[in-house]
Amino acid sequence: MKREALASFAAETTRREDVCTVLGEPYDPDRWNDWRWQMRHRFTRLDQFEKLLALTESERRGLLLASEKFSVAVTPQFATLIDPHDPDCPIRLQVIPRESELLVSPGDMTDPCGEDGASVTEGLVHRYPDRVLFLVLDTCAAYCRYCTRSRLVSQGELEPLGRRVEESLAYLEEHTEVRDVLLSGGDPLLMSDASLDKLLGRLRAIPHIEFLRIGTRIPGFLPQRITPELVQVLRRHRVWLSLHFCHVKELTPEVAEACDLLADGGIPLGCQTVLLRGVNDSVEAMRDLCRGLLRLRVRPYYLYQCDPVLGTGHLRTSVEKGLELMDELRGHLTGYAVPTYVIDAPGGGGKVPVQRETILAHQDGVWQIRNWQGRTYSYVDPGP
Ligand SMILES: *Cc1c(COP(=O)(O)O)cnc(C)c1O
Repeated sequence: MKREALASFAAETTRREDVCTVLGEPYDPDRWNDWRWQMRHRFTRLDQFEKLLALTESERRGLLLASEKFSVAVTPQFATLIDPHDPDCPIRLQVIPRESELLVSPGDMTDPCGEDGASVTEGLVHRYPDRVLFLVLDTCAAYCRYCTRSRLVSQGELEPLGRRVEESLAYLEEHTEVRDVLLSGGDPLLMSDASLDKLLGRLRAIPHIEFLRIGTRIPGFLPQRITPELVQVLRRHRVWLSLHFCHVKELTPEVAEACDLLADGGIPLGCQTVLLRGVNDSVEAMRDLCRGLLRLRVRPYYLYQCDPVLGTGHLRTSVEKGLELMDELRGHLTGYAVPTYVIDAPGGGGKVPVQRETILAHQDGVWQIRNWQGRTYSYVDPGP
């Protein structure tokens, strides 16, 4: 190993040891690498975070009060990425609540994407003609403070899957127009290999379903869960994964290893990122993230304008900010590294791509178009 690599390895081990000390557990690499150990030893309480981080008063109040409405949990693995002394750490902002979560901003909603209204069975959202969103679990490995589904997730709001699976599968069997099923939640990869295998098998047995994908933050929050056995299950059912990363600091060696296992196993990988104030709302942060993802063979898919979920005003940016960032990405980055910037239209309109105008004028078969440098060009339509 090179000297820098050795130094970073040593720092990483020390941080793991620190985290284990707070948990009152000796550091043991085998246990650390067991995803069930990670799940059992998540940080959830103020007194634990107090020992892990130099908390601000606002975080203390957030942990005490906001956590009653929307649970707090951080895996030991993800906890090693938090800077204990920097309250503005981009990892910390994503998972540690602040007092501002108690504030309601204009336009805040509990169900901004109008999913409850578009549900056809409990947990099955059928908004677009050919595809459905299937919420299989209501728990995650850790909780993103800007979660669009905080109304359901962590609250035990969804019936266990076992009780509603037949009803949802019956709907899908009957609706032959559905070609695409997106499993989400909560995080579907918290299911056991056997349960996931069974559910995916049932979906694959429906002849008109062509495309299966899973939305998950597990490779980032809990890379230990990505085992060769899990990859075999995903591969058997030809699943695509939509991952979720918001900052390049999340792309650790453990995460790179998990993505390699998935990509080598033939699982196509995309990433959904949420635009967050103080986390990734700078050109450098967004560029480093998109390039880092491509290095891991993860294709940036969507960049979401943060949904107006109750208590997330402090984490949101203006749409203008998002447009500025997109201007800086296009032309400066590999096309594969540039996500589509979308707003999930509040009230249930679905995802709307937003883009600065590139068509300046169109008259008599002549299109005036603007390139990434702001220069104008013309394209002439073929004659009749
Ligand atoms: C995002 C979403 C989908 C999938 O949309 P794509 O643009 O195909 O990724 C499907 N259903 C619902 C309700 C969604 O929110």
